[in-house]
Amino acid sequence: MITLLKPIGHCFGVLKAIEIAKETKEKYKDKNIYVFGLLVHNEEVVKDLEEHDIKTIEMNEDNAIDLLNKFTSDDVVIFTAHGHPRVYEDILKKNDVTYVDATCSKVKDCFNVIKEAKEVIYIGKAGHPETVAALTMNQNAHLYDIRSGLDYSLIKSDNPLVINQTTLSFLELARIHQEIKDKLTNAVFYDEICNATLLRQKAINELGDDVDTVIIVGSKKSSNTMKLYEIAKNIHPDKHIVLVNNVNELKEYGLVFKNAVIASGTSTSIETINEIKDYLSSL
Ligand code: SF4
Repeated sequence: MITLLKPIGHCFGVLKAIEIAKETKEKYKDKNIYVFGLLVHNEEVVKDLEEHDIKTIEMNEDNAIDLLNKFTSDDVVIFTAHGHPRVYEDILKKNDVTYVDATCSKVKDCFNVIKEAKEVIYIGKAGHPETVAALTMNQNAHLYDIRSGLDYSLIKSDNPLVINQTTLSFLELARIHQEIKDKLTNAVFYDEICNATLLRQKAINELGDDVDTVIIVGSKKSSNTMKLYEIAKNIHPDKHIVLVNNVNELKEYGLVFKNAVIASGTSTSIETINEIKDYLSSL
């Protein structure tokens, strides 16, 4: 048996970002359209945009300013669903370059909370675009890196706001919250894992014993996909867990299964999932 684990396919933030990118191409027919970074962390989506003549500029925290200064008034720049530092917009404004913001509304809400706080502990993955942007929203924001933790000597107040990247694992976040609570008893906690991410993680967490194979579909660059994979591996060591980007990668596994479940990250399209389902059905 093959089951699709719901929710599956693109989340509302990804759908909106793709819609914004395609509308931008329609609106500015005579200009060069660039996405600054990966619109969403999925190679198939990036390929689809390229086919619509919407180019992706690969960038990172270190080369962003130099790259932004190269755009001209013939270009339109789309900022990605993950958010971006405000200074990026200032540079484009100064150079008379049109830009469009495809930041997910959930991410924007999170940034607004950060802006209002006196001091912030931000739990996220160092270098992830959402984390990079979030840390620029408040001068007193400190990173709790999910891989290396927090330097507690940096915290000045006894009641900082604790907030997080929207695509973390709920199990990992609970553990980190407890650690911070033990050290800073008056800290104020916000849980900002978005529903699109959380519901998928909970569905993986609650898989029954009858499932022997779990196929997670999504890119290794996608934070929420990787969290689904990590949760599946940790909670279900007895099941066969496979992470693939598309049907061609799955074909290399030569799977044998009785009950397989297909789950996906939020940037994976339903077309990719259906191809995988059709392939499994044909085995
Ligand atoms: S995963 Fe959540 S925060 Fe990210 S784009 Fe989708 S809805 Fe928005």
